[in-house]
Amino acid sequence: MNTTDVILPGATLGVLGGGQLGRMFVHAAQSMGYFTAVLDPDATSPAGLVSHRHVRTGYEDPQGLAELAQTCAAVTTEFENVPAAALNQLASSMPVSPAGSAVAIAQDRAAEKAHFVKCGVPCAPYAVIETPAQLAAVSDGLLPGILKTARMGYDGKGQIRVKTRAELVAAWDELQHVACVLEKMLPLAHECSVIVARGRSGAIVNLPVQRNLHRDGILAVTEVYEGNLPAAQVEQAITAAKSVAEGLNYVGVLCVEFFVLEGGQLVVNEIAPRPHNSGHYSQNAMDVSQFELQVRCMTNLPLVQPRQHSATVMLNLLGDLWFQHSDTAQAPAWDQILALPGAHLHLYGKTDAKRARKMGHLNITAATAQQARATALRAAEILGIPAF
Ligand code: ATP
Ligand code: MG
Repeated sequence: MNTTDVILPGATLGVLGGGQLGRMFVHAAQSMGYFTAVLDPDATSPAGLVSHRHVRTGYEDPQGLAELAQTCAAVTTEFENVPAAALNQLASSMPVSPAGSAVAIAQDRAAEKAHFVKCGVPCAPYAVIETPAQLAAVSDGLLPGILKTARMGYDGKGQIRVKTRAELVAAWDELQHVACVLEKMLPLAHECSVIVARGRSGAIVNLPVQRNLHRDGILAVTEVYEGNLPAAQVEQAITAAKSVAEGLNYVGVLCVEFFVLEGGQLVVNEIAPRPHNSGHYSQNAMDVSQFELQVRCMTNLPLVQPRQHSATVMLNLLGDLWFQHSDTAQAPAWDQILALPGAHLHLYGKTDAKRARKMGHLNITAATAQQARATALRAAEILGIPAF
């Protein structure tokens, strides 16, 4: 594909992975007049349920990949652990964004950190631990720290906090000696993230900096409005996110997560090669959502700088909320939530509520930050989410 070729509405767009991110991508693509195909083995996957076509095979199944190649004009991914080899294979017959090579870096914390170093964007002090010798050589300066598996972690899974060398050894045993990264535990004042979208021509746009609150390693609240973070860090985060994307020669939507330390220093945490939970507010508070950006990137449509029209707070709706009043799942009082001004409910069509499972999110929009926060706090109270 040339940098000037455009895939117009009417074509079929494919996505690897059938989770909620795929579902919201499908919704965005369909509203722009595209047909969609989802590759996911699960018959009840959130995206498979709403797509024109659902290819129900594994990500590396030759028949499934061939079916996608035959039906789609371009392919993207919503699932960060999709085998990079599958993306590379599809890339021989159609545009694939992001590229397998970029996804491969995001899949491996060690490669990811090496990329940050290469781009001159500071990250937490760390050591790669793949052998007992590397474990023994870890400097005391990295303790207390967090031992993270290099691959396959999400929502805080595959992470163990360690205070001492003995705890570090025990933690690596517990993780069965898989390749890991030990990161120094940093004193966090805030967490934030930036979503950028980069096209084939190198054009790049960004969503505003998102202020994020995590609870138990899972995103709980995102707040986006003027003044959500100190101005100095806002500019720095956007510049850093763009250079991380440019350094990868990235095409697609990329989320870069950061820590703001107590001293005000900005440190990059990790990247996600796809739309991100912290960007969901863009569906209701921006004139272009992160999912529309994903469509525009993969089809080579123009990228225009998105404009925020409302202050916003997003609350994640985890399965725990279904178990507030009893051990059998009971949906929260949506009618009370939807009585609040500026409440936008997004549910992912998952029938089985489980604790820590992402069931949906609630975007609150308002004319001012104060109003958005007040309404979001009221919604949190109704839902049984602790105040923030
Ligand atoms: P996800 O992919 O869902 O964002 P993850 O499982 O990849 O999450 P991380 O982003 O590495 O996990 O860490 C989860 C959370 O743990 C962070 O958002 C932060 O709150 C905390 N955390 C991680 N690393 C550090 C660190 N070095 N110092 C202090 N806190 C940390
Ligand atoms: Mg994270």
